[in-house]
Amino acid sequence: MSLESAALARVKPSATLAADAKARELKAQGKDVIGLAAGEPDFDTPDNIKDAAIKAIRDGKTKYTNVDGIPELKEAICAKFYRENGLTYKPSQINVSPGGKPVIWNALLATLNPGDEVIVPTPYWVSYWDIVLLAGGEPVALPTSAETNFKVRPDDLERAITPKTKWIILNSPSNPSGAAYTRAELRALADVLLRHPHVWILTDDMYEHLVFGDFEFSTIAQVEPGLYERTLTMNGVSKAYAMTGWRIGYAGGPEPLINAMRKVMSQTTSNPASISQWAAVEALNGTQAFIKPNAKLFEQRRDLVVSMLNQARGIHCPTPEGAFYVYPSVAGLIGKTAPSGKVIASDADFAVELLETEGVAVVHGAAFGLSPHFRVSYATANSVLEDACQRIQRFCANVK
Ligand code: PLP
Repeated sequence: MSLESAALARVKPSATLAADAKARELKAQGKDVIGLAAGEPDFDTPDNIKDAAIKAIRDGKTKYTNVDGIPELKEAICAKFYRENGLTYKPSQINVSPGGKPVIWNALLATLNPGDEVIVPTPYWVSYWDIVLLAGGEPVALPTSAETNFKVRPDDLERAITPKTKWIILNSPSNPSGAAYTRAELRALADVLLRHPHVWILTDDMYEHLVFGDFEFSTIAQVEPGLYERTLTMNGVSKAYAMTGWRIGYAGGPEPLINAMRKVMSQTTSNPASISQWAAVEALNGTQAFIKPNAKLFEQRRDLVVSMLNQARGIHCPTPEGAFYVYPSVAGLIGKTAPSGKVIASDADFAVELLETEGVAVVHGAAFGLSPHFRVSYATANSVLEDACQRIQRFCANVK
């Protein structure tokens, strides 16, 4: 008899974590490897946030808290939603979970019945698909393409909705494509969703603060208040404040949904770490001075990477609006022969050959549900990015 449950057997381990682990393992063996697979900022958590955590420890804030977050953090989150997104939530409409990923898990586990469909635009962040499966639902791919800058077209959304659709997951700026929806683009999607009142919307706004140039971030419940009662607006401190290890994510939504999510947490994780919650209060209420310069730094890196990758033979790299990823196409390399003599039949082959020949770790597009592409995370120093892109150029030049 199989050890794994039928539910777990439907799920793949996270491909991004696996690619990152592989790069770390090769490095530990002394190999010259550049990891462009990890999805986390390369700078340290700001000192004011660390100090707030140390103070929380000294003040004895080390006990169980309310299951879905301390009142002080819920207040800070309500203030953030109002200040930055024009959204009004009461503390009773806020969920705090041990990371953004658990927010999604809690919401989907709380609401999915067998056979319920969740529309997941591709390319998607790896976990959406498998969390839906684990929660007993049916993920439904909604393909996008480089021609629409990896954004969902309203007609395609209309066609994807069925009577069984329970949720659609939106993610802007996107991991892995970096694409971000303008207000007008969200408006057009909202018009479709208004016609289908049985569909709930989960919007993952994790990369809100990483948008470039004069792009203005919007979120769907702000653009169309008519969707507020069936939207879960999710966010977190992981990316904006370089707090990936602290494990705090949050969401605002209708009370019945938030109550159901609390019920899940009360029988699974209980509260997120008390100390991390106090750190998150400072992240949201304290100085935001580093956010803009930080986004500027990422913008310069995006420009560097897009320009260098477009100089690699067989690669086409669109310019995304945000996050810290690019999602180039390797269509020009498929069917050709890698320097090792092996044929590159897929984006997975490309990623393996690139790692083995040039020591650059990227994640293949199939992991995100859209091939033939690969994802580069450029959350690393410029000199490292230049070296990595030169290696990619050399690899491509040697493909026959
Ligand atoms: N949503 C997106 C789009 C992400 O890229 C990530 C992390 O990579 C998360 C959610 C999860 O964030 P957390 O680390 O807070 O669980």
